[in-house]
Amino acid sequence: MYDVIILGAGPAGLAAGLYAGRSRMNALLIEKGQDGGQIATTNEIENYPGQIVDEEESGPSLIARMSKQVEKFGCERISDVVQSVELAGDVKKVVCAGGEYEAKTIILATGAHSRPIGCKNEGQYVGKGISFCATCDANFFEDFEVYVVGGGDSAVEEAMYLTNFARKVTIIHRRDELRAAKSIQEKAFANPKMNFMWDSVVEEVGGEGMLGWMDVRNVKTDEITRIEADEDDGIFGLFGFIGFLPNTELFEGQVELENGYILTDDNMATNIPGVFAAGDLRKKSLRQVVTAAADGAIAATQALKYIEHAE
Ligand SMILES: Cc1cc2nc3c(=O)[nH]c(=O)nc-3n(C[C@H](O)[C@H](O)[C@H](O)COP(=O)(O)OP(=O)(O)OC[C@H]3O[C@@H](n4cnc5c(N)ncnc54)[C@H](O)[C@@H]3O)c2cc1C
Repeated sequence: MYDVIILGAGPAGLAAGLYAGRSRMNALLIEKGQDGGQIATTNEIENYPGQIVDEEESGPSLIARMSKQVEKFGCERISDVVQSVELAGDVKKVVCAGGEYEAKTIILATGAHSRPIGCKNEGQYVGKGISFCATCDANFFEDFEVYVVGGGDSAVEEAMYLTNFARKVTIIHRRDELRAAKSIQEKAFANPKMNFMWDSVVEEVGGEGMLGWMDVRNVKTDEITRIEADEDDGIFGLFGFIGFLPNTELFEGQVELENGYILTDDNMATNIPGVFAAGDLRKKSLRQVVTAAADGAIAATQALKYIEHAE
């Protein structure tokens, strides 16, 4: 029986693991993929306090330090996929592909995932031209043409990162101006490799095995433009950065949700005693590494208090 089981090793889960381990809780952290969650997929992180941007620093390098700290304070780690949870009652149960675990408290920190682009045939071309992670896939498009869907901070920053690899990067945006911060926009407009398709959405994608064409619709005129891969390339890249959806399906019908996001109080407590939530899966005003880490720290501290009161 663990004191606490933490689901997900993004910034929220890692901070919870660090605080739980450091306060000598018998803690287990379960992660299905690589540590760091979303921030491990980006090179650019300029706003985590103390993170100074230079060539050596990135999302993954920040996470590597967080993981090391978690290890140092003795939080147990398992690499597995959480398949179901039983949250009610004094003993919380977590069922993973490789085993079942029990704890007095639980911290839900499974984060969020990219919202799909929403075009016809999208699923067939994910990993075959369509991607949601520039850091992971940019080098596949060295000297190719790349399109980016979105107009917020992430979309524009990731598009500029892609200009280090692709010969041309075009932002496809459904409005006639970007939503990204003005300072980011200025850099994008000054970048000679950047192009813009305004008032546009991707309707359908296709190609023989790999992404070879897409139909883009102008939302004002309804005109469809077919974009085809250059004959010599045979493929182009299409990256989606249009927001996120919380990873809370596993908890539906148990914890209270609003639009899929978990409702908590200021102490990260959900409606179920002993169940806490931290990070991007929570209803909150700012979803960033600094707030995810803060949530994780609070959740672990409150889990300890909950156990002390129960004893
Ligand atoms: C491209 C991009 C750029 C960004 N740039 C910045 C930035 O510059 N500054 C900033 O502060 N923030 C940035 N963010 C936001 C930041 O990454 C998130 O706010 C932060 O990662 C949220 O942390 P989290 O721990 O709540 O969730 P996540 O990072 O989503 O981590 C959740 C973890 O849970 C795991 N998980 C999910 N389901 C299961 C399961 N069933 N079983 C086991 N494990 C599971 C996932 O694999 C993942 O590792 C960026 C995000 C993106 C995508």
